[in-house]
Amino acid sequence: MPGGPGPEGPEQQALFGWEDTELPAPPARGGFRDSPRARRMLDVREVYAEPAALDSPRGRQILARLPGVPVTEVAGHWRIPSLHGNDGNIARWTRIKTETLVLGVRQSLTTRPNGRSADWIAPGASNGCAMACAYCYVPRRKGYANPITLFTNIEAIIAHVRRHVRAQGPKPEANQCDPHAWVYDIGENGDCSVDALICDNTADLVAAFRSLPTAKASFASKFVNPDLLALDPQGRTRVRFSVMPADDSRLLDLRTSPVAERIAAAADFLDAGYEVHFNLSPVVLRPGWERDWADLLVHLDDVLPARVKEQAAAEIIMLTHNQQLHEVNLGWHPRAEEVLWQPAAQETKRSENGALNVRYAREVKREALARLRELIAAHAPWLRIRYSF
Ligand code: SF4
Repeated sequence: MPGGPGPEGPEQQALFGWEDTELPAPPARGGFRDSPRARRMLDVREVYAEPAALDSPRGRQILARLPGVPVTEVAGHWRIPSLHGNDGNIARWTRIKTETLVLGVRQSLTTRPNGRSADWIAPGASNGCAMACAYCYVPRRKGYANPITLFTNIEAIIAHVRRHVRAQGPKPEANQCDPHAWVYDIGENGDCSVDALICDNTADLVAAFRSLPTAKASFASKFVNPDLLALDPQGRTRVRFSVMPADDSRLLDLRTSPVAERIAAAADFLDAGYEVHFNLSPVVLRPGWERDWADLLVHLDDVLPARVKEQAAAEIIMLTHNQQLHEVNLGWHPRAEEVLWQPAAQETKRSENGALNVRYAREVKREALARLRELIAAHAPWLRIRYSF
């Protein structure tokens, strides 16, 4: 594709050293969010904002941390032609994700039932991501050039969640989401750890759940942000570190923290008051996948202390893909598609919005899940599987 990366596809950006599995120490002043490592992830040089977002306390707080950064007012955060969509943006996705921030006001405040990863999906406080995983479903509607949009009406989002939690009353019976608490996913369309580099929405949500004894927040993350260790969640927030074999992650999880660093952070997050689970996600079937997942499970078993293992649980999520994303990826990262796009093993399903989604064929998936469960039983028998999908 003109202007795109070469035929070898993009290199994993050197955000972090692969051998470095220590949790980065926060700098003495300002926190991790002001460190050079944080700025390699997010170095905002332009802001697009709805006027109402600019006028809000959260919007003003965010902009106060971005002195001199030009702001372009937009009527709506949802469609910004120069920013969203794929046409013309393929060559500059990473730059857009690093340097652009959108501020908007979330209009729809609804909580949806889920029943798999969480009991409920809360209205997220952001949409979009500074990372660039090749299989990510989040950009399907905005296009891959989908930087972080932060919603500044965080008080309204939290008030809605509080009302919803109170309306449920105590959880009547245990389920795989949690034995006691209603679990609310707070990060469906982004990564709360990265959002916390630029605003306090994640901190506010963690604080809100601290005072909701019948509920628990939950979010998946591929980024280790040591600033979250100071949020004092008091057991009411579950972080789910996503893990996959290092070779897959290098190829597919662009701009994320190395998997070994996510695993190394687990004990620190537990000690800081989080519940720490793992997402074995996505499981990508390719030659050698069983050996590499076994190595990963052995690594988890070797490095995690007993206190992490005792409370850990995992979700297994098999890769799903999408024809449009496949075609987009061919333009910038064809090597990823060599493992993601496997028509002989996959079947298609037309979604309600007309998109052609792809997943492993029923029998392929059944056998792979059975094999992965065997590997877990052999190498990490303490890892309770909450559900597989
Ligand atoms: S970290 Fe999550 S939201 Fe961000 S690009 Fe990767 S899969 Fe998508």
